[in-house]
This record gives sequence, structure tokens and C-alpha cells, in this order.
Amino acid sequence: MNQTYDAIVIGAGVIGASIAYNLSQRGLKVLILERQTVGAGATGASSGLVRMHYDIEVDSALAWESFHFFRNWRERIGGECGFHKTGFLQIVAPGKNEHLHANVAMHKRIGILTDVVTAVDVKKIAPMLKTDDFELAAYEPESGYADPVLTTNSFIENAKANGTVLKQDCEVAGIRVSGGNVQGVDSNRGSFDAPIVVNCAGTFASRVGQMVGVEIPLDTWTHDVAFVKRPPQVGMHPTVIDDALSMYFRPEGELTLVALEDGNRMGEAPEAELGRVDPGFVMRAIDRICERVDGMEEGALHSTHVGRDGLTPDQRAVMSQAGPDGFYLACGFSGTGFKLSPAVGVCMSELILDGRAKLVDISSLDLGRFARGELLHGEHSYGHIWK
Ligand SMILES: Cc1cc2nc3c(=O)[nH]c(=O)nc-3n(C[C@H](O)[C@H](O)[C@H](O)COP(=O)(O)OP(=O)(O)OC[C@H]3O[C@@H](n4cnc5c(N)ncnc54)[C@H](O)[C@@H]3O)c2cc1C
Repeated sequence: MNQTYDAIVIGAGVIGASIAYNLSQRGLKVLILERQTVGAGATGASSGLVRMHYDIEVDSALAWESFHFFRNWRERIGGECGFHKTGFLQIVAPGKNEHLHANVAMHKRIGILTDVVTAVDVKKIAPMLKTDDFELAAYEPESGYADPVLTTNSFIENAKANGTVLKQDCEVAGIRVSGGNVQGVDSNRGSFDAPIVVNCAGTFASRVGQMVGVEIPLDTWTHDVAFVKRPPQVGMHPTVIDDALSMYFRPEGELTLVALEDGNRMGEAPEAELGRVDPGFVMRAIDRICERVDGMEEGALHSTHVGRDGLTPDQRAVMSQAGPDGFYLACGFSGTGFKLSPAVGVCMSELILDGRAKLVDISSLDLGRFARGELLHGEHSYGHIWK
């Protein structure tokens, strides 16, 4: 006889882990199935930025609700998430000043701790930053970064304490449906029954969708990351998204993590080897960090790595019910899902158990928007993040 659960979560990245934890908090007996190991997908390679600055409200609201968890992890979840408050700057090119003002006004309406600051203010906040090519930035003094692997493990350990079962090296190969209702899944380690199945399979989510005839327009996004040894005289800088130079960077102890918004590789197969960073990436990353941070020319490359996430056509997540009753999607996090994960878990558990997410209205993130041609974009859009 198959083992029976209340819900099966496919994928043990940070999104599946958060959803499993939240369902288990609501009393469900949950099974997490993971084809490799916990955090083997995008989560294990994530840069971990925690900030609220987005150009659409639903993303900012999810990030803000999540931020309350990151800041008080031990009390809210238990264990560690590795949050470091560094302050966060969103730098924009002068052509985007109006957009920045409008987006910060939207953030303030939500309650986010943020302000528009001038280049002169930026110099006071972070004296090592060169500020001659932009006029304005948004500043979030309380934001920073966290550790995606610690965060995921913490969700999983706390879910396990509520009775959740985790099976690694367990690849879901089929989903059973009868009378329009999900019945369970088949995997390389046997079959399991549950009336609820949540697709959190990251870059593989479109394949999992196809198991029940649900088409998810998901591409892949492969992203190179470098760590540079920071010369001591530079000092500790904040976490920065620098749209003027199409990069982001943050401190990691004596190192600086740098990655680029452009030159990312789209369309690689989900199972393709991650391999090495693109030829030329390191030089471009070093050139840009030196362009922004005084004294970085004396730094040295420490290491690089590559990660891959699922990318939707509007570069926003999909969170909805789709296909047979009991089948749910939480995927397509498009290179920005880590910081949203605590609120995603709450919202998905509310959607599944109460019929509607209450913490944040996630109805605009439904799968149907692609078929309807209603792709999401900010009223004061900065354009696609990833090029
Ligand atoms: C290099 C990089 C940097 C990033 N930086 C940031 C950042 O600074 N801030 C931020 O907020 N976000 C960032 N992101 C994005 C964020 O990390 C992801 O959006 C998030 O981790 C996605 O989590 P996930 O659980 O949806 O996917 P994943 O972590 O990819 O997890 C999906 C899991 O599903 C498993 N799986 C797939 N198919 C099956 C199957 N059939 N059966 C069983 N298991 C299956 C996979 O093995 C995988 O472990 C970054 C991403 C990358 C790659």
C-alpha cells in the first residue's frame, strides 16, 4: 500500500521548504520529495540579497512581509537564517529618477523603511562609492542579506519537528489524477498518495506541470557570481543594486560578492551541467566593481560559481492553483525568490487551506496571466531585471 500524506511538496529548495513548513504548522502531514539534495537547485547558489525595492507592489509586499521573518528568525521560525543588516542602496541611472521617486512612495505606503537619497547622501552612507554618474538612489537602512542554505535547512528542520517527512534522491516522474482530483505521485522511490501536490521544482517546474497537462511558460536563467577579496582600506560597504552599471554587490566578510544583470544565459536545459562562469564574465564584473567602488583595483579574485533559476516571460513568480483540483504552483521565481520565501510559504498555505492568500494578495501572480496576455510590469517600471 502507498504511504498517504495530506500534502506532497515537489522540490526542497527554499520555496518548497517554506511551503512545507507552513503547511505543517497548520497541522498537515507533509512529504517533501527532492530529486537531489536540499538546496541543490537555485537556492544553494543564491546571493541571498534581502531588500524590498521592486517596481511592482506584490513583490515589495511579499519582500516586506518576509523581512519581518528574516529580522526575527529565531523567534518567528527557530534556528538561524544568517541575516546580516548591511543597509541597501538601489542606484538608478538619471533617466529613472522619476520612477525611483514613484516606487519609493509605493514602498512607503506599504510601510517599508526606505527613502530617496541624493548622490551626496550616498557618499556619506558609503564613502567608498563613486557617485559622479547618478543623482538618486533608494536607501533601506535595515536591509541586507541572509544565508539561503541556513534558511532552507531551518524551514525543513522545523517542518520535520511538526512531522514532515523529507525524501532526497527521490525524483517525481508522474502525478496521478482521478476524476479531476490529484491523488498522489510516482517516483523512483515508490508511489505516495495525497490530495494536494505543490510544484516547487524550480527550473524543472514546467516538466512537472506537464505531468498533469499544465503548461508553464518557463525558461531558465543561468547566472554567474564572483567573490573578490576586498582591500582592507575599502572598508565595509552596503548591499547595492546598481542599475546604472547593471550589477549588484554585497559584502561577505572580507569578500565582496559581485554579479551582473546583463549577459545571463537563458534557455539552458534544467539538467545541463552548471560548469564554469562565462568567458569574459570575471573581467566585466571586476571592471564594473572598480568603476563603482574606490580602491577595488587592489582587490583580487577569490572564487566564482554559477547557479540557475526558472524564469517566466515577465520575470515574476507564478503562485496559483492550476489544472486538476489539489495541484498548486509556486515556481518561476526568476532570480529573485529567496527574499520572498517566508511570505510565499504563508501565502501558499493560505491559498491551499483557506482558498485565498490573506497575508499578501497574490492573485496577480496566477498562471492564467500568460494566456490572457496580461504580463506584469510596474507602473513605474525599470524594465526587465535580467538581460
Ligand atoms: C546565482 C543566483 C543568485 C541569486 N540571488 C538571489 C538574491 O540575491 N536574492 C533573492 O531573493 N533571490 C536570488 N536568487 C533567486 C533565488 O535563489 C531563487 O528564486 C530561489 O532559490 C528559488 O527557490 P526554489 O525552491 O523555487 O527553486 P530551487 O532552489 O531550484 O529548488 C527546486 C528543487 O526542486 C527539485 N526538483 C526538480 N524537479 C524535481 C522532481 N521531478 N522531483 C523532485 N524534486 C525535483 C530540484 O532538485 C531543486 O532542488 C538567486 C538565484 C541564483 C541562481
